[in-house]
Amino acid sequence: MWYITRFKIIFEKKVIVDLHSHTTASDGVLTPSALVKRAVENQINVLAITDHDTVKGLAEAKKTIEHENLPIKLICGVEISTNWKNNEIHIVGLNINIDHAQLLDLLLSQEQARIQRAQTISAKLAKLNIDNAYEQAKQFAKGDIVSRAHFARFLVVGGFVKDVKRAFKKYLGKSGYAYVPPNWCSIADAINAIHSAGGQAVLAHPTRYDLTATKLKLLISEFKSEGGDAIEVSQSRQMQDDLQRLAKLANEFGLLASQGSDFHDLVNYLDLGKTKPLPDSVIPIWHNWMLN
Ligand code: AMP
Ligand code: MN
Ligand code: MN
Ligand code: MN
Repeated sequence: MWYITRFKIIFEKKVIVDLHSHTTASDGVLTPSALVKRAVENQINVLAITDHDTVKGLAEAKKTIEHENLPIKLICGVEISTNWKNNEIHIVGLNINIDHAQLLDLLLSQEQARIQRAQTISAKLAKLNIDNAYEQAKQFAKGDIVSRAHFARFLVVGGFVKDVKRAFKKYLGKSGYAYVPPNWCSIADAINAIHSAGGQAVLAHPTRYDLTATKLKLLISEFKSEGGDAIEVSQSRQMQDDLQRLAKLANEFGLLASQGSDFHDLVNYLDLGKTKPLPDSVIPIWHNWMLN
């Protein structure tokens, strides 16, 4: 005897989303074209390019996707460096209009602050008999953004330190000999510029700032009251309990949740698209995006 059972097959297509990545427009190692191709190889459906204080990598990425008809949705993004109580806090902007004047003005002044800082870092290194560091760091930068990551690469290749981690510890990090406090914009400035360009503002990697639990809550609460939209809950280099802790904080402060590998290279970061899934308790920032 045959029983015909009606059953529903649910084809649940898993959407792979990575909302934080870097290219050679800032301190990533892949060009925008190579990055989007790698993302497609990793079966990513939605990718945000979020270079430090610049949107200059996005045009090339868009062009490659169009020319090669790549099956990927590109989100225009940026990662803005800000100053908060003597800490360098990163704010990611997603779905921004990259031609918006207020945003471009802010990015230009950030770029100038970077150049000034780089010159002062270079002067400090010169006092330690490490000469021409700015010119050398610029050789490692493929775009207009000169980051401490480029100084670090020069210090490694020049034989002054063994690896990038030590370059930050000895010279470039907060307690390093050549540390220079940056002149970044405020969190409010970054959020306002992102919003004026039609985007959403995300507090990047909240557990990477070495803040006490109390200070972290203060940061998230100020970010929220300035109009911030989301915090990164799933990111590179994090423990399982971190994920749960950040999910709880997102809900406590009424913020959406984001996720991103922060891919720069394969040595120090997760590969594109390889973050752990967001816990069911949070609302993903892309919950109401039109993804087709
Ligand atoms: P900047 O934006 O110029 O302040 O440079 C910060 C960048 O340097 C970060 O985005 C990372 O890519 C890199 N960086 C910062 N700290 C470290 C570290 N301890 N080890 C390796 N890379 C680091
Ligand atoms: Mn970086
Ligand atoms: Mn960052
Ligand atoms: Mn980043």
